[in-house]
Amino acid sequence: MKDVDLTIVGGGPVGIFAAYYARLRDLDVRVIESLATLGGQISALYPQKQILDVAGFPKISGDSLVQQLVTQAKQLVPEFVLGTLVTDVQALGEAGFQIVTSAGTFKSGAVIIATGGGNFTPRTLPLPNMSAQLAQHLHYFVGDGQVFTNKRVLVAGGGDSAIDSALHLLKQAKAVHLMHRRATFRALEHSVKQLLASDVVLEVPFLIEDITVNADGSLAVTMHEVMGERTKVLEVDEVLVSYGFISENSTMQQWQVQPAQTVHGIKVDQTLQTDIPGLFAIGDAATYPGRTELLSTGFGEAPLAVNAAVRFLDPSKRGPIHSSSLHIENGQITK
Ligand SMILES: Cc1cc2nc3c(=O)[nH]c(=O)nc-3n(C[C@H](O)[C@H](O)[C@H](O)COP(=O)(O)OP(=O)(O)OC[C@H]3O[C@@H](n4cnc5c(N)ncnc54)[C@H](O)[C@@H]3O)c2cc1C
Repeated sequence: MKDVDLTIVGGGPVGIFAAYYARLRDLDVRVIESLATLGGQISALYPQKQILDVAGFPKISGDSLVQQLVTQAKQLVPEFVLGTLVTDVQALGEAGFQIVTSAGTFKSGAVIIATGGGNFTPRTLPLPNMSAQLAQHLHYFVGDGQVFTNKRVLVAGGGDSAIDSALHLLKQAKAVHLMHRRATFRALEHSVKQLLASDVVLEVPFLIEDITVNADGSLAVTMHEVMGERTKVLEVDEVLVSYGFISENSTMQQWQVQPAQTVHGIKVDQTLQTDIPGLFAIGDAATYPGRTELLSTGFGEAPLAVNAAVRFLDPSKRGPIHSSSLHIENGQITK
């Protein structure tokens, strides 16, 4: 991995926007995200919920907001490093920082920590016979949903996210089944009402026992009744596992750099810098008196931290000019 001016740890909404803004300030930037997808808490926890408090959008679904952020960023940020964990950040004095990841090591002039509530990993489906072919049909995110179009889909899970996903997929899938180990759902009353009135076929109270791939590439899902004797085989094309995510906060505790923290997050000053020069924290990872865990708060912090990083890297650099004075052409900024 080649060295960069600025590394952003975390590809949540705030990290994505910070990367775009860093490119507007002409920094060479790299975003590292532990999940295989961008969007942080939005993608993991509430992709189909409508968000009402992002400036300029009367309402926007979580997935659409992430798509807009990624589209905006990709005008200038050619690549996001996904499925990669930052396992260590070491301070090198004047030489900046050494970033150690699960995919390699490189140097970075400055670092912005945008790790939110910690690195996410989906709760996986424990199966006796997992093959590469089967893994292609097991999903943990709806994403743009293309893979489910005109397919028979089984959604596994009984929480808000599972129900939202099942209802959302009805629009494009051939058939949607929802399997849950209880006959009742732990979700918003409104969502459960919508579910019960919908065409989603409920498979309750069942648990997946095994999944095999048929000769034609479809899946045979064997389900066993919870506290019962019934076994059922369901033929589908894709399975969406919606068992939630584990958020791991301890990774950062292993880093060599240890910025001052409170129980609420990493302490920062008014430029979002930690007590370690060149190391910044934004979004839900950061804390200061009066901070609220909102997207808008994080979106506001991103330019402040990036502009402070620009000055840290080159004190002779002047403050930002308005983006309305800039143009983006073929991935480059022109004035
Ligand atoms: C159910 C729910 C509903 C919400 N609704 C709203 C709302 O309506 N309006 C609103 O403004 N806010 C809402 N929020 C809050 C909002 O989602 C958060 O404030 C926002 O996601 C914070 O963004 P972030 O980028 O700072 O962190 P996150 O979204 O947490 O993203 C951090 C990313 O960093 C990655 N990461 C962490 N550690 C590492 C590491 N060591 N290496 C690599 N990657 C790492 C994680 O995998 C994650 O993807 C809601 C939150 C929840 C849970």
